[in-house]
Amino acid sequence: MLAVLLLFAAATAASAAMFVDAVRSREEAEVRQAAALPPAAVPVAVQRPATGPLVALTFDDGPSPQRTGYVLEVLRQKGVTATFFLQGSNAAAHPDLVRRIRDEGHVIGNHSYTHPTFPELTREQTREEITRTSQVLTEITGTAPSLFRYPHGASSAATDEVLKEEKLSGGVLWHWDSNLQGDFECPGAARVQEFILTEATDQAAILLHDAGDTLDCPVDQWDYLPAAIDTLTARGFDFGVVEATDRPSAVNQGSWVCVAVPRTGPGA
Ligand SMILES: [Zn+2]
Repeated sequence: MLAVLLLFAAATAASAAMFVDAVRSREEAEVRQAAALPPAAVPVAVQRPATGPLVALTFDDGPSPQRTGYVLEVLRQKGVTATFFLQGSNAAAHPDLVRRIRDEGHVIGNHSYTHPTFPELTREQTREEITRTSQVLTEITGTAPSLFRYPHGASSAATDEVLKEEKLSGGVLWHWDSNLQGDFECPGAARVQEFILTEATDQAAILLHDAGDTLDCPVDQWDYLPAAIDTLTARGFDFGVVEATDRPSAVNQGSWVCVAVPRTGPGA
């Protein structure tokens, strides 16, 4: 009798899963038509199930001696793993910080060498910006990055071509549906926190910075980080990292990425 019940339960679960898959693949096919880039990599199994909706904190433009250490310390204290899109020139200037980001279990992506606006570049300049950054990151960390984020979110046909050749997934964008200000506009700690909490939804990559324009903001703006992490945790969110995947993310403007449970963590 138990065996029959188990069989019935398994069959029910299987047909429900098939239905969900069918709906999902129809939705994905629709999204895929709008997306520019094929996948550069396939997802691999994750270590543990998510404990709640997954949100990825992403930090761009670093590393910087002013703020990267602070961000890393907050993340370590809170047990949160994040994704850092590094600017090649800053990585070359501060390899110790790049190694620390790696050693503390965070994901590192390519964010160009000098943070240009790609549509304004020639094909050769485009190639140089992307390949030079991957070379620097590979030399410092021993691992080639697999993710790329467009500076200013601005893509070009040449960028997409080079990303494909370099097997980089991207450009990784972000979730930003509200008209709230980003951290680089120096709105202050309370408003950056409000931005994060407003944009946080399952699979959202949240755009933040540990260098660039944010270095000109009043230093107490950075109080947003521990407060936002605590509130997200209280609301049931789990923290993931950006990963390449084989389907465009409707949550993150069609980027071919997902937010996945980290396979390593702070101190791992
Ligand atoms: Zn940037």
